[in-house]
Amino acid sequence: MVASPAHLAHDGLIEVMGGRPVPCFEKPERITAIERALAEESSYRLLPSTVHGMQPITAVHDSDLVELLEHVWTDAVMSGATDGASPLIPDTFLVGPLAAGGYRGAGTARPARLGAYCLDTATPIVAGTYGAARAAVDVALTAADLVLGGEQLAYALCRPPGHHAARAMYGGYCFFNNAAIVAEDLVRRGAGRVAILDIDYHHGNGTQQIFWERSDVLYVSLHADPARAFPYFSGHADEAGAGAGEGFNHNIPLGVRTGIEDYAAALERACAIVNEVDPDAPLIVSLGFDTFERDPIADLALSTEDYARVGSIIASLSRPTVLIQEGGYAIDAIGANALSFLSGFGG
Ligand SMILES: [Zn+2]
Repeated sequence: MVASPAHLAHDGLIEVMGGRPVPCFEKPERITAIERALAEESSYRLLPSTVHGMQPITAVHDSDLVELLEHVWTDAVMSGATDGASPLIPDTFLVGPLAAGGYRGAGTARPARLGAYCLDTATPIVAGTYGAARAAVDVALTAADLVLGGEQLAYALCRPPGHHAARAMYGGYCFFNNAAIVAEDLVRRGAGRVAILDIDYHHGNGTQQIFWERSDVLYVSLHADPARAFPYFSGHADEAGAGAGEGFNHNIPLGVRTGIEDYAAALERACAIVNEVDPDAPLIVSLGFDTFERDPIADLALSTEDYARVGSIIASLSRPTVLIQEGGYAIDAIGANALSFLSGFGG
């Protein structure tokens, strides 16, 4: 297991959901709860991340987005756009009709430009956000290093999560797409076929977009049907990729209160797709525990015990695996859910 304390400085305090400011669901305690649960089991070692630099990030993300995230907080404080205590959440968004008029945001003050890169009102930026997002990438890449070095399994305790972040867009609590950055890095290190299996409750719209036209990175996702669930605009079953990537994007939408039997069947379908592609690099799993029956922002029905079965199904692929933490917001259960998953994976 790999982690970095840098995530603690990313604490957005509030998000806007359903028209109301509410306390952030994506908070530091999510990761500290997993760390605490795993620390009680002597079989898991906690390792620090190592610095991997900017190149793996700009290999996936538009440099304008990276530059904006790096400097926007300081700019906002200097210009008075924040009082230094309130998080940055855009109040103006660059949507189609505005963009069609020729506006791209160039030359506008950085805090105002956020709305050209942001998906939603749930992803506040504070002083520690950029550092945390950079550290989460290092955590993911360090876990990948461990697996490339011979470990069968490494667990990256990434926070903030990543799978909603697209090439030039952040949102959905995500800034840099940790899983996509690992996948791209594996390709650049010589892999011919990489697979990302996404079992977060939500569709990973960012990962899908980044590899939409690529045949060298398979994306397979199980998630709540976007007809009712964030991110709404992507994740439908007929989104299959385009160009060279056609057939290398697979979405498996799930109904309300899907329980373990139906979930396991869907996961086995997803694993069969992975096996068909037969990756020649470690399997990347975007691991969310917001499929849990008591998750406060989700509606599937997996129990703590069920995660052992989820882990065992993925382990049956018998592939070296990098686990990348994505969502999961039932903080009182997330540690037990992670332990259950790992026990199933190992058993
Ligand atoms: Zn999620």
